[in-house]
Amino acid sequence: MENTKEFRTWLDDMKLDHPLVIAGPCSAETEEQVLKIAHELKDTDVTVFRAGVWKPRTRPGGFEGVGALALPWLQKVRKETGLKIAVEVANVAHVKLALEADVDVLWLGARTAVNPFAVQEVADALAGTDKIVLIKNPINPDLALWLGGVERLYKSNIKNLGVIHRGFSSYKKTKFRNVPQWQLPIELKRRYPDLPIINDPSHICGNREGIQDISQIALDLNFEGLMIETHIDPDNAWSDAKQQITPARLVEIMRDLRVRKPKAEGEALDQLKGLRAEIDVIDNHLIQTLAERMNVAEQIGAVKKSQNVSVLQDARWGEILENMAKIGAEAGLSEEFIKTVYKAIHQESINKQEKIVTSK
Ligand code: PEP
Ligand code: MN
Repeated sequence: MENTKEFRTWLDDMKLDHPLVIAGPCSAETEEQVLKIAHELKDTDVTVFRAGVWKPRTRPGGFEGVGALALPWLQKVRKETGLKIAVEVANVAHVKLALEADVDVLWLGARTAVNPFAVQEVADALAGTDKIVLIKNPINPDLALWLGGVERLYKSNIKNLGVIHRGFSSYKKTKFRNVPQWQLPIELKRRYPDLPIINDPSHICGNREGIQDISQIALDLNFEGLMIETHIDPDNAWSDAKQQITPARLVEIMRDLRVRKPKAEGEALDQLKGLRAEIDVIDNHLIQTLAERMNVAEQIGAVKKSQNVSVLQDARWGEILENMAKIGAEAGLSEEFIKTVYKAIHQESINKQEKIVTSK
């Protein structure tokens, strides 16, 4: 990618073949490690080599990266393999050093993205650059904060901008290190349809096993690329050892991923049209049915008003939820889905009833 060529055009051209793949270790450890990995990634679908040089650690005392010392190693990677190089930047000093080293892709990490002061500092230091700049989602599931980061970078006249979806932390214990919460990147895509979006299954999964499935979901959702942590000796990596995969495994994953065309053609298109028409009819029914349900809820509200009983009846609500989860399960719908839908329906019913009960 010459920097004169727009990021988007470059991605679109490449996507005919395969998505953008950024791979490389969580951290640059030694010159030998970096070069070994890079040579194994040469002649694969990988086009950008990543390596964390400055590592933000949750707690002090962890490996904080080898620092600027690794920048010449990355330059050597580019020279020897033709791969573009990418590092994380979190402050002005990092940006200065990365630009001096002519790094091709600079990304802001999840811990930087949570802090508007830090994002602004980096945005100012990058103002007007032609380099590709990517911003990861903030650690917490706050779309406005992520959008704010994107907007700060746009305002700094960074032309080749993109985002990385790496999942969100959750207080609940889940099978993910960071829960994907796909609705957030989907909403971001809806607001900025031209903004390239790259998925980072490594930080979402926190393990090696889930990477293929998360990557496939991202491609099915039309993400433009993947960033996957890759190490020659994952078990002995100095950071994020559990989630890194070998270059050989990465090649297998890339081979098995189904890359979908952005739009259907010919017979498939006709079939899709028919199915979409069916969906439209069903959606219509759904809305009518919901409206009927709300109508009945309002009638219940009127009765509650006349009897002066409270709108929220905990026991009844628990019963509905339990029954619907059971019926849903029989119909092949997950409990999580039923609960989400019913919470929304119930909330709307309560709102309607509140209106009735408080009316004069
Ligand atoms: C990383 O990419 O190694 C990293 C530190 O990721 P994140 O900012 O998503 O935690
Ligand atoms: Mn990492």
